[in-house]
Amino acid sequence: MPSSEISVIIVAGGQGSRFGGERPKQLALLAGRPVLTHTLAIFEAMPQIGEIVLVLPGNWLKTIKDEAVLPYNFKKVFSVPGGAIRAESTRRGFKASCGKLVLVHDGMRPLVTPNLIRAVIAAAQERGAALAAVPVRDTLKKVADGLTCQTIDRSTFWQAQTPQGFHRKILLQALANTGIETATDDSALLEPLGKNAAVVLGSARNFKITTREDLSMAEALLSAATLVRTGHGYDFHRLQLGRPLFLGCLYIPSEYGLLGHSDADVLAHALGDALLGAAGLTDLGQHFPDNDPRWVGISGTDLLAEIMAKVRTAGLELMNADLTLIGEKPKIAPYRERMSTAIAQALRVPITTINVKATTTEGLGPTSQGQALAALATATLRVNPFMNEPLYK
Ligand code: MG
Repeated sequence: MPSSEISVIIVAGGQGSRFGGERPKQLALLAGRPVLTHTLAIFEAMPQIGEIVLVLPGNWLKTIKDEAVLPYNFKKVFSVPGGAIRAESTRRGFKASCGKLVLVHDGMRPLVTPNLIRAVIAAAQERGAALAAVPVRDTLKKVADGLTCQTIDRSTFWQAQTPQGFHRKILLQALANTGIETATDDSALLEPLGKNAAVVLGSARNFKITTREDLSMAEALLSAATLVRTGHGYDFHRLQLGRPLFLGCLYIPSEYGLLGHSDADVLAHALGDALLGAAGLTDLGQHFPDNDPRWVGISGTDLLAEIMAKVRTAGLELMNADLTLIGEKPKIAPYRERMSTAIAQALRVPITTINVKATTTEGLGPTSQGQALAALATATLRVNPFMNEPLYK
């Protein structure tokens, strides 16, 4: 089946009442990125998947898109507003999809593996419908008023997970049935039709993040298996009377500006070199040679955006960057917050990822006499070890 014929509906329409907090749990950070972004990245990277229909709560749709989707350059993802109940959210996602095989996956199961997804696809293709599930491990008790009243034989009980996969015609039929609006998963919609779904052995790791404790467990699992790479960068530019001054992706009113064939944003250049170094992608001079007319006058903002795209193509994401400006003037305190924000926007990362500071050189050397500015930067990137392909293509 060609990739364009498999759609996945990522159901993330819930408000997360058990999670607490004012913001939706889809945006809670896991390894530095929104939980939902992890889920999307796994499906985005699978060549079998043609499109990803993301179902979001209507009142948070724009915020979630802006923070968890747009910064990551997904090519297959588009969003639709969800409904008040699970079946309605799936219905809306289904309407927007076009695959002959349709997968449904919970947005809050970010640790699903490509292997499990492939196994569900194969079983659904063969049997018409399939789901990931795990056998119940603990003894099951029926409890009333805090007291046990019965022990249930657990041997035939399984816990349903996602992904679940369906031939389009079968899911269309199941969703047309409006008598089962209490269903909490999609394979339950088949039961009134007298149809069964094949069970594929899921994984304990593929749990659904419902509470803060679940989020901590996911964080521990990811950090235990995460590879980290660091890089550093240094840059130096002369100051010249009458040049505009660009620093940390900001224009700063000043009599003196930095000299260079670009906008000479010394902070952005040091950070760019640190990012390329951490990613093992050589240096600024290789990617932006100063004899190439394409890069004449390039801004720090555009330069960092270009570099971050290369970093993401290599399957890496920025955990944090620390920047130091070396010079007497300008004092950066009044600009510090706007600089961090501008740099974070250029890289499309959370603002807390970027720290900017400054130091002087005790009245010695060109950086203390207003002749030049220098900058240092370090960047720490992380790799997602569950992926054999780039995270963001
Ligand atoms: Mg430079």
